[in-house]
Amino acid sequence: MAEETIFRKIINKEIPADILYQDELVTAFRDISPKAPTHVLIIPNKLIPTSNDVCEADELALGRLFTVARKIAEQEGIAENGYRLIVNCNKHGGQEVYHLHMHLVGGEQLGTMVT
Ligand code: 5GP
Repeated sequence: MAEETIFRKIINKEIPADILYQDELVTAFRDISPKAPTHVLIIPNKLIPTSNDVCEADELALGRLFTVARKIAEQEGIAENGYRLIVNCNKHGGQEVYHLHMHLVGGEQLGTMVT
């Protein structure tokens, strides 16, 4: 059984976060330590620890990550110039929080690695 992380408390609004979007499948909120002018995390409400743990039953929620990313990029005014979507996996991938999340990063010219 995977352990819940700080992101569960954000989903449940038990700790403060700048939530931009939430529905029955996903939650999007600004990263507490932004690496670019726009840095938003989009996560499934269900705990999926890493991308190694995804399964067919998660496809609706995981697809929703992309449509919410697209909408937020439009709202933030960064869609046309472009942005980066990143999912880190495990230690070598630089994952720190073991609740799968998509980083939406943009608002400036990005280097080769940002988060
Ligand atoms: P990872 O390295 O796991 O891909 O990214 C985890 C991200 O979560 C980091 O960019 C980090 O700044 C962000 N983060 C960690 N704890 C919190 C928190 O309590 N609130 C928010 N909004 N972001 C967090």
